[in-house]
Amino acid sequence: MDTELDRLDRVRARIAAACLAAGRDPAGVRLLAVSKKQPAELIRRFFEAGQPAFGENRLQEAMVKQDQLAGLEIEWHFIGPVQSNKTRELAERFQWVQSVDREKTLRRLSDHRPSDLPPLNICLQVNIDREPQKAGLDPNDVQALAQQARGLPGVRLRGLMAIPRFTDDKASIRDSFQRMRILYDALKESDQSLDTLSLGMSGDLELAVEEGSTLVRVGTDLLGPRPS
Ligand SMILES: *Cc1c(COP(=O)(O)O)cnc(C)c1O
Repeated sequence: MDTELDRLDRVRARIAAACLAAGRDPAGVRLLAVSKKQPAELIRRFFEAGQPAFGENRLQEAMVKQDQLAGLEIEWHFIGPVQSNKTRELAERFQWVQSVDREKTLRRLSDHRPSDLPPLNICLQVNIDREPQKAGLDPNDVQALAQQARGLPGVRLRGLMAIPRFTDDKASIRDSFQRMRILYDALKESDQSLDTLSLGMSGDLELAVEEGSTLVRVGTDLLGPRPS
């Protein structure tokens, strides 16, 4: 049986190998453990094995686990669809929200962020392949929303996140990642404090690292298959 540390080491080794191939410093790529649908006990074991950051995509499910794990210094990232009537809980309970794609959400997250906490870290989610059913901003609207984020005291814009079109075609995924990189670099020209390009999951983390990702979000290949 693999231990949590074995699995962490294996994913870290994949990230390190991809960095080496791309001539990048592995310290420039963070690992987010995506724990959606996984039990709190598994999160605890990975945390104790040295993984500090976990991602959840449903607020109700996340809140139950956060309460079960209260006392552990976990860095919680929200990576799912944001309903604007849930922004208070998100602003109070998470350190990051990576899936912001509307001005209304942004404003409410800022308003609800408790004043004794540092500003909430934000990524704007981009619908990079302009898929009709998918969340995320149109690539053309990124600059404007980023500008609005800069005026809000309760949030700190860190960068961009995307989930490319689902396909086995590596060239297509790489192309999506490259277009994200161009958007990110353009945004950085007006805001050098940006440091996060959130791209890559279990199946494509190497490609993402080659194309400049600074944060990979890994569920299945780290925590195992999700219970159905
Ligand atoms: C589920 C999920 C992931 C992780 O997917 P795996 O293929 O299990 O690694 C990453 N990002 C988001 C936004 C997700 O919803």
